[in-house]
Amino acid sequence: MPAPTVAALLDAATARLGDALGLDRREARLEAKTLAAHVWRVAPAWLIVHDRDPVEADQATRFDTLLARRLAGEPVAYLTGVREFYGRSFHVTPAVLIPRPETELLVDLALTRLPPEAPHAVLDLGTGSGCVAVSLALERPNARVTAVERAADALAVARENAARLGASVEWLAGDWFEPLDGRRFDIIVGNPPYVAANDPHLARGDVRFEPPDALASGTDGLDDLRRLIACAPHHLQPGGSLLLEHGYDQAEAVRACLAAQAFTGIASWTDLAGIARVSGGKLSK
Ligand code: GLN
Repeated sequence: MPAPTVAALLDAATARLGDALGLDRREARLEAKTLAAHVWRVAPAWLIVHDRDPVEADQATRFDTLLARRLAGEPVAYLTGVREFYGRSFHVTPAVLIPRPETELLVDLALTRLPPEAPHAVLDLGTGSGCVAVSLALERPNARVTAVERAADALAVARENAARLGASVEWLAGDWFEPLDGRRFDIIVGNPPYVAANDPHLARGDVRFEPPDALASGTDGLDDLRRLIACAPHHLQPGGSLLLEHGYDQAEAVRACLAAQAFTGIASWTDLAGIARVSGGKLSK
């Protein structure tokens, strides 16, 4: 049998990914190309230029092995070990939540509160891959960015991302504010777990492979958000801002928690999908 061409292999993989994972053709094709480019160590453009080339047997086998893992549900980002966030490539492993596009809103909002020249102190809680902390440190070199993470294996990924991307961040191991006794910040950001523990969403798709501790937070998903909002006033400068990502239906509850702690200027902001995704306020002066 003649060796299949690059195009034939990608076509077959696209069809199987579409069927198995319910992806539309565009998404399935993108995934097939991402996996092929990764496993063959080529740029995506190479696949187009060489689409009529035959694929050698061992290359086809390596591709099939990776494809089988994707067909069994493993997220593409864990298979390739990378995910883009805020215009940069972050290393990810199953120890960290895969960076989401909606979390870029958290970075945008923090940046509007960080004047480029000011040496503001910024805190990122539950940093995971470090994508938020590293993005803020690189966008605002004058800011002093601190990031906290409980999971040692996640913290190692974050440190590695910062070193590779050249970001200067203070990394602390611990549970939320625990390692920050008495310290205050100008801005606190966080993307804590916020999914309800019994949400059926946790049993479907990519999230099944992500760290449960980074996703679920009590019966209504608000346990950690409530705790962070209650503790934040002890760690903010007067007038300092708190910005928290939350679930699609939690904006009102989060704003009520902020109001109960005497935050002012409380608001919610919508992500690209039009969902209220981040809420925050300022600590009264
Ligand atoms: N946005 C994620 C999801 O719905 C949850 C992330 C989180 O809990 N911080 O899968």
